[in-house]
Amino acid sequence: MACSLGADVCGIADIKRFVNAPKGFHPLDVYAETKSVIVFGKQFSASLFQANTNVPYALVKNKSVKLLDDIAIQLTAIIESEGYRAIPIPADEPYEYWDSQNRHGRGILSLKHLGQLCGIGWIGKNTLLINKKYGNRLYLGAVISNAELNEDDLVSNSCPENCSICLKSCPQSALNGVTVNQKKCRELCAYVTDGGGFVYGCNICRKICPFANI
Ligand code: SF4
Ligand code: SF4
Repeated sequence: MACSLGADVCGIADIKRFVNAPKGFHPLDVYAETKSVIVFGKQFSASLFQANTNVPYALVKNKSVKLLDDIAIQLTAIIESEGYRAIPIPADEPYEYWDSQNRHGRGILSLKHLGQLCGIGWIGKNTLLINKKYGNRLYLGAVISNAELNEDDLVSNSCPENCSICLKSCPQSALNGVTVNQKKCRELCAYVTDGGGFVYGCNICRKICPFANI
């Protein structure tokens, strides 16, 4: 159903897989009756990395987020029409959790961790979800539901042990292979042009990865 609404990938996990989810960011913290988590992704073209400006990348990101939110809302309605409950999870902000000192924000659930547990891919050292078919060129959305659904297999791949291209290439030294220092990243990434438009000031860790162009 997610793919018929425009998603390129979709995965499902039983709630039991989330036993290690951090307190406050567990699907059950959002909806206490959750039995299944559904994550879907929209791929974007590798051609965007060839542009000499990130304006086209920002355009596609913004439009993809809207599409993913629309898919989540429509999927919710379909699941409800089958007699179950379903909650859409935003594909991007707003952050309810915000650590102003460290400029660290968190969505109500971490979509990339949800995506990993739904079998869509693995989390690379650049902290992005990497999918076998689309590499790290996926934006994600999700729905959680009290419907019991068959789950997908997990992906066992991981980054090559000897690869650290993304870590070495980050101009802010914001990556350590496990997490991203959002404060350092935002100094470069959150860029507003003099004309007032938001543009991603940096996406090097995404585009330099060998999995960006598969
Ligand atoms: S977006 Fe840029 S600054 Fe942020 S972690 Fe990636 S390479 Fe570093
Ligand atoms: S650049 Fe290498 S280490 Fe970084 S995410 Fe890609 S494969 Fe993993």
